[in-house]
Amino acid sequence: MRTRFAPSPTGPLHLGHAFSALVAYDMAHAAEGEFLLRIEDIDTSRARPAWEAQIYEDLQWLGLDWPRPVLRQSENMAAYESALDRLWQAGLLYPCSCNRRDILEAMSAPQEGATLPMGPDGLIYPGTCRDTPRAPGTDRPRDSALRLDMRRAVAQRLFAYTETGAGPGGETGLITVTPDQLIQHVGDVVLSRRDMGTSYHLSVVMDDAAQGITHVTRGADLFEATAIHVVLQDLLDLPTPLYHHHRLIRDEAGKRLAKRDDARALATYRDQDLQPADIRSMLGLPSTAGSQGL
Ligand code: GLU
Repeated sequence: MRTRFAPSPTGPLHLGHAFSALVAYDMAHAAEGEFLLRIEDIDTSRARPAWEAQIYEDLQWLGLDWPRPVLRQSENMAAYESALDRLWQAGLLYPCSCNRRDILEAMSAPQEGATLPMGPDGLIYPGTCRDTPRAPGTDRPRDSALRLDMRRAVAQRLFAYTETGAGPGGETGLITVTPDQLIQHVGDVVLSRRDMGTSYHLSVVMDDAAQGITHVTRGADLFEATAIHVVLQDLLDLPTPLYHHHRLIRDEAGKRLAKRDDARALATYRDQDLQPADIRSMLGLPSTAGSQGL
């Protein structure tokens, strides 16, 4: 059993991150498995070395440890590039030059007050660039975003995975994802952003497989994105791990904690002389990884 915590170094870790890291760590401990840390820093416009340094400090303070060296996604671009090449050669990607305004305009002027179709990756792409002709045998373009052609990718197949936690609607156990759900409610997601040369979805799937992760532990906000991840695992011949989505930590108003929420940053609690056991107790977790009540 091997699980991981995969933060992005774009701000201070807060109580929600602590919960995610501790749930994963405790699960690994209970199963006599392994807990890995991975730094998800593909968004170089937002990732900062100082935040990364603080991640290590905060997690150590919480009492966690993990094998070194830590995988940093910014150092693993070659792996994402070769996956993109493979999907491109298979004819499953297409270049897209639409910006957000183009997408909104193409979404046939919705009635006032009507909600726009949103998927796990934002607005569901209306397909504007999908049928732009591509010369066969050409190289993958580097200067535009690349989208997955979901219709071709799913080819009428059914996808499934096992959820050992729960999605936002209590979804658990064997989760099936139908072609219709993927085409209508997920759509042609971006796998390579123009400014990044990859995407969260592609990198996370590649790295979970490369690191031999058997249990993906993360917040329920990423439950819907798992549908994209199982499709990519299928296309790239990667194993599908078990998924364990946990509840989200919210503030008094019921709002999900955000990176800018300094009041709940672990560093703030540390400065106030709180102890890791206090953090565990605030989160409703047992006082140490090995204690009863897990
Ligand atoms: N890097 C992602 C985040 O900070 C988590 C990715 C994952 O656990 O799949 O939200």
